[in-house]
Amino acid sequence: MLCGALALITALWGAPPDERPGDHQGPRAVDGDTVIWADGRRVRLAGVDCPETGRPGAEAARLLAQAHLDAAGPALALVPPEPPRDAYDRLLADIHSGSRSLSTGLVEAGLAWRYRSSDQTLLTAQQEAVRQRRGIHAILDHPLTQGPYLETSTSFHHPACRLVRGRSRQLELRWGAAGSFASGRSPCRSCLAWPPRPPLGPWSRFRPEALSSGW
Ligand SMILES: [Zn+2]
Repeated sequence: MLCGALALITALWGAPPDERPGDHQGPRAVDGDTVIWADGRRVRLAGVDCPETGRPGAEAARLLAQAHLDAAGPALALVPPEPPRDAYDRLLADIHSGSRSLSTGLVEAGLAWRYRSSDQTLLTAQQEAVRQRRGIHAILDHPLTQGPYLETSTSFHHPACRLVRGRSRQLELRWGAAGSFASGRSPCRSCLAWPPRPPLGPWSRFRPEALSSGW
């Protein structure tokens, strides 16, 4: 009876992954916000951005994204199912497991922030992650991360950023990035205002305390 049930499950879902060691056929996280879908298409997570490769938190974001993808298995779906493409020919989409969103899971863990999005769920998740100093937000109070930063209506910048040069008198000068994140602003991708480059002492080697797969 048990053998029959296992055979049926195998027929429906294919062999369990642990019977194919080294043969990873699911989606693969290239970094926190870029995923190679199982069919080879490249997906850029819509509405969020993660620390750039080499910056504190980047590898932690990639590991968490991969842990979420592995935990969800065959339940994964692109949202929307027929996503638009960005300038780099990547699919712009969120990845869902049931009603759970990978983008939201990363923001909740403090390893991504809302980017070019007005999604209120992402903003609420970001505010809570900042308040609790989760993930990379743990370095918000580090003395070497206080800036200052120049704030526009949607983003914040290194004061020398070419995108805000000459406008410093019209823009808000902020010490620290917590207020900018809490108001839904994102770090500029041109000057890579956040997270700051090492040296940040032990934060240069930042790793999350635990990579939970509960998303
Ligand atoms: Zn900038």
